[in-house]
Amino acid sequence: MSTRDVLRRIIGIDPNEPSKFGHPGKSRELDISHNVILYLDDITVSFDGFKALNKLNLAIDVGELRCIIGPNGAGKTTMMDVITGKTRPDKGSAFFGQTIDLTRLTEPEIAHAGIGRKFQKPTIFEQHTAFENLELAMKTDKRVRKSVLARLDDADRDRIAETLRLIRLDREADRPAGLLSHGQKQWLEIGMLLMQEPKLLLLDEPVAGMTDDETMRTAELFVSLAGQHSLVVVEHDMAFVEKLGGLVTVLHEGSVLAEGDLATVQNDQRVIEVYLGR
Ligand code: ADP
Ligand code: MG
Repeated sequence: MSTRDVLRRIIGIDPNEPSKFGHPGKSRELDISHNVILYLDDITVSFDGFKALNKLNLAIDVGELRCIIGPNGAGKTTMMDVITGKTRPDKGSAFFGQTIDLTRLTEPEIAHAGIGRKFQKPTIFEQHTAFENLELAMKTDKRVRKSVLARLDDADRDRIAETLRLIRLDREADRPAGLLSHGQKQWLEIGMLLMQEPKLLLLDEPVAGMTDDETMRTAELFVSLAGQHSLVVVEHDMAFVEKLGGLVTVLHEGSVLAEGDLATVQNDQRVIEVYLGR
């Protein structure tokens, strides 16, 4: 049996009847008892007949740090859009854990279920301090029953301080976010995502525009987040991908061209032809 068939069986998809899986009920508890946090099965997305994704298959383990690479137009961002509910697939299924059918949920429901996404352009509150940005992120988390006007308790302050340390902004806690460097703004937005305690983090080109030093620090941050979180990172920067050290999936024309550790995919002749040999 292929890995894909094993996975299908694990999450309960009858290989002969892929579209019938899933209970009619909407949001359910995240079930990761089979160690798979994300499972895309034969996802196809067409834009005016053009297949941005073409039978894409992907399985991410709990706590895994996965890199997605591939040429421009390969479908990387579209894949993120499908996972977060921004784009609906024409065909195929997308599961968060074993039971949550992402194709049936709205974008807010998916965020609420525990999938956080970082876009390329940071969406931080420039006039507010780094600390306040994390505070606001925590309070807009619908799972935390706290109004924006509620006072922070000690546990909240500790959590914010801990997150500031993690994203290396503890010394910048009281600076307006607008005054931070480009890299620091990116980290702040990652911190804002972390305040919502996502299980799965999606990061689309997170080190674009960063200095080499910031890029390496970001890699360290992601490596430290793996385990507690699962991460799917789209990136072109090979030094960064190498430092992350996880499995690499190469997308090309909307499907998986190769998958393995970086050295393996870098030596794959098909990958060299379509991507690395430019
Ligand atoms: P990547 O992120 O790998 O560079 P994208 O997922 O952004 O690739 O795009 C994949 C392909 O789908 C590209 O050819 C792109 O032009 C096309 N595409 C993406 N979004 C849309 C859309 N909303 N409408 C039409 N075509 C789109
Ligand atoms: Mg993209």
